[in-house]
Amino acid sequence: MINLEQYYLIKSELDKAGARLVAVSKTKSVEDILTLYKAGQRNFGENYVQELLTKKELLPDDIEWHFIGHLQTNKVKMISPFIACIEGVDSHKLLKEINKEAAKQNQVITCLLQVFIASEETKFGLNELELQQLLKDFHATDYPHIRLGGLMGMASFTSNQLVIANEFALLRSLFEKVKTEYLKNDPDFKHLSMGMSSDYKLALSHGSTSVRIGSLLFGERNYNLSK
Ligand SMILES: *Cc1c(COP(=O)(O)O)cnc(C)c1O
Repeated sequence: MINLEQYYLIKSELDKAGARLVAVSKTKSVEDILTLYKAGQRNFGENYVQELLTKKELLPDDIEWHFIGHLQTNKVKMISPFIACIEGVDSHKLLKEINKEAAKQNQVITCLLQVFIASEETKFGLNELELQQLLKDFHATDYPHIRLGGLMGMASFTSNQLVIANEFALLRSLFEKVKTEYLKNDPDFKHLSMGMSSDYKLALSHGSTSVRIGSLLFGERNYNLSK
């Protein structure tokens, strides 16, 4: 069940901060997505390819779909015809594949580079050195079908606000550094995607421009029922 009051509240908070809302709809129904759509929401995030393909068919064409998890190279071609933004690119190989598939569709796909900022071992992403290496090797003219749109990161899964704040501050500083040192203030490189249901306020106070919120809007996820 969608809590629309909650949606409008979060929207006004984000509008004040000048940040974008990506409503994370994984495991949630087409009906719930439509409810938010009718309230004006256009950016939605999913992280399972098959689920995304199924839902996309049943929903309006002007939804901007974000792929927000780890994307396998061999699945790029399944979403390249329509995906607006891939949040979570963490290798050169993946960038190459996205460029190749987007070229076939004559599309330009926005990609956010995922940076590893958490203390957990399981999360995907580039560390600072890998990020710098990737940017050094990235020549925009070789990738006409990719728009480097910014950085994305996930904080540690902890209730310790100081730990989370430090991780967001780190990502913010990397974002500024990349913008000025590697991309010469390219206006397309403008998204700092950080903050989820539990930590989006903290993320906003650290300069997030795009938050990915699921359970606060759609309710808790129940993975058993959805699959
Ligand atoms: C599921 C997910 C979210 C949303 O999480 P909530 O805690 O439900 O807001 C955000 N980002 C990514 C990458 C996710 O996989």
